[in-house]
Amino acid sequence: MDGKRVIGLDVGGTKILAGVIDREGQVERRREHATPTASQEELLAGVDSAVEELLTDEIAAIGFGIPSPIDQRTGRALQSVNIPLRDLDFRARMAERFGLPVGIENDANAATYAEFRFGAGRDVEDMVMLTLGTGCGGGAVIDGKLFRGWAEFGHMVIVYDGIPCQGSCTGRGHLEAYVTGVAAAKLAQEEFGPAVDAHRLVRLAREGELRAVEILAGIGRYLGAGIGSLVNIFSPELVVIGGGFAAAGDFLFEPAREILRREALAGAGERVPIVHAELGTAAGLIGAGLVAFDALE
Ligand SMILES: [Zn+2]
Repeated sequence: MDGKRVIGLDVGGTKILAGVIDREGQVERRREHATPTASQEELLAGVDSAVEELLTDEIAAIGFGIPSPIDQRTGRALQSVNIPLRDLDFRARMAERFGLPVGIENDANAATYAEFRFGAGRDVEDMVMLTLGTGCGGGAVIDGKLFRGWAEFGHMVIVYDGIPCQGSCTGRGHLEAYVTGVAAAKLAQEEFGPAVDAHRLVRLAREGELRAVEILAGIGRYLGAGIGSLVNIFSPELVVIGGGFAAAGDFLFEPAREILRREALAGAGERVPIVHAELGTAAGLIGAGLVAFDALE
């Protein structure tokens, strides 16, 4: 056990991505499994077998990215909206089961960590990331270190008493309600009919459909308001946008930059670039591996 390789698992609402990861962030033996979501027991059985499949003598630690707020003091995964995990001492459970050091982190934090080390943020010391998919997650790196608290940036209030948030969140006017693929699909369907999802909306915009461009610009301005607040709080050098809906690119980013220039303090709106994430769907998996390496120290 020379500490050169770990297992990383990105436990998502629909699939578990697993792989063996080295210190340079290279993924070997990448695997993908459907996430069992019928019960916590089945979920844990699925996670266990995904680990066992990759476990060899050279594995030094295991890291998990989980779609749930994590209490890092106790290693507990608190209530998750997408997978059946309820207030479980996840880190202790896995450490006992596999007899190895175990790291656990929120999935969006893990993706942020990977982009910081090996992706869009590799040349900066401070960055903020937002992931736009079904939901809106995020993470922050401050002074070269991952912020390991609850970086639930998607649940930042950007409109007081605004539209209801998604999933099991009971809040209103949260960023997530305005900037996800789900939010985009809702607006697109009002305009173009039930068959148009976020993906199709982006395509319509690329084809020059003005109303599609306007819908995306409206979403981008809300995104810019959220980013403006994050820049004012964290003063990052860079803002990275990942997740499937980030494919909308400058249809979102340009209006977001315009609002960022208006809202960010002390000229930060001119200085802080908004860029695409670079690692794609592997970010969460690589980040889980980094969390495993951290557990070795
Ligand atoms: Zn919310």
